Amino acid sequence: MTTLRWGGVTDVGRARSANQDAFFAGETLFAVADGMGGHAAGEVASSVAIGVFEGAGITRAEDLVALVQMANRAVIERARHDVELAGMGTTLCTVALVHDEFADRMVIANVGDSRVYLFHDGALTQITTDHSLVEDLVREGRLSPAEARLHPKRNILTRVLGNEEVLDVDSWDVLCRRGDRFLLCSDGLFNEVDDDRIASVLRRLDLPEEAARELLRLANENGGRDNITVVIVDVMDDGGAGEAASASLADSPTNLDARMDPHDDGPSPNSHGSSARHGAEERAHRRSTSHGPGTSRRPSWRAGLFVAVLVALLGAAFFSITWFAENSYYVGIDDGEVTIFKGRPGGVLWIDPEVEEGTGIDIEDVPVARRDAIRTGKQHASLQAARDYVTNIEDLIESQRPSPTTATTTTTPTSPLSTNPTTDPPLTGPPVT
Ligand code: CA
Repeated sequence: MTTLRWGGVTDVGRARSANQDAFFAGETLFAVADGMGGHAAGEVASSVAIGVFEGAGITRAEDLVALVQMANRAVIERARHDVELAGMGTTLCTVALVHDEFADRMVIANVGDSRVYLFHDGALTQITTDHSLVEDLVREGRLSPAEARLHPKRNILTRVLGNEEVLDVDSWDVLCRRGDRFLLCSDGLFNEVDDDRIASVLRRLDLPEEAARELLRLANENGGRDNITVVIVDVMDDGGAGEAASASLADSPTNLDARMDPHDDGPSPNSHGSSARHGAEERAHRRSTSHGPGTSRRPSWRAGLFVAVLVALLGAAFFSITWFAENSYYVGIDDGEVTIFKGRPGGVLWIDPEVEEGTGIDIEDVPVARRDAIRTGKQHASLQAARDYVTNIEDLIESQRPSPTTATTTTTPTSPLSTNPTTDPPLTGPPVT
């Protein structure tokens, strides 16, 4: 749970007769207004705007923008009923702590040239952008920041509360980090005290009240030509959000930008017209960087699309594997017999090979040179190719089988008497007389 402490001061300064500044500080909501207009109208404008903040509850970033727009209508409405107040207006910068399921954040909104700064890790960064003529000239490159500080028309504002019913409000949100200090102030401070001096005071003085008083003293010491208002809000505890966020973001100055806005060119606001847009994409980005490991996220349409694509890919993979495993053949051995199998040797994932047909060939009859190939499983693209291979094996076996020859002769036993008939003289009878 994020806890805050704060200190604030406002002062007429050394040159003005009245203080047209006003500020509001609640538990989690802070605002500074710098009024303008003759006949005390400036005081009325700032106090009317600040009055809207009393008792207001902010739970979402959009609430703060809506509150600023409500303050604008209140100032316009007040001037409508009093001709003395015609043309009055006021600046308004505001900071509010909001909680959501992801993180605690400080939401900042601004109209005019009062400012909100963030002091983080010893460095001061201006979060808000002034709505002033000189700021426009600086942005266009026609004026340097140093020239702008001394420009005679630096008081001319391009956007204030009390002017038009439809008001654009710039807003930012920043993740809460323990030790961060938010400085809200009117131009009576920063026109007299430069950023380095402000940062030095924020570094040196720990108590917000004390630091605010010191800044006020310096502004008066340097001239005090305008009303001066300073509010300092310290983040005392961030509920662990800082540690969680630093797990995904290393500490560096650019991370301030990442915390405030994803754009590389430093903090730039979400602009709020009558439709009160709030840069959902940008906040989504911040939320994603604010997650610690293991935190739960709300399912989104992106998650749904991801699941759908995953299911489709798995389905396609399943189909491919099945087709691959079931539409191929190999010649292997089944119980000593050369056999044609459907599938892949050893199977593919969950698909085991099946016996397609036997061949009647004993593996021991297969020429030795071919046996190893068959033992590993000789693969073929089709059943016919496997059959052709088997036929070839049969031919080989046949060709190596010894064929019957005429070498075997039949013998007839011979009488020893007739072994040499030619040499033996023929038996002759006695001669006849
Ligand atoms: Ca002023």
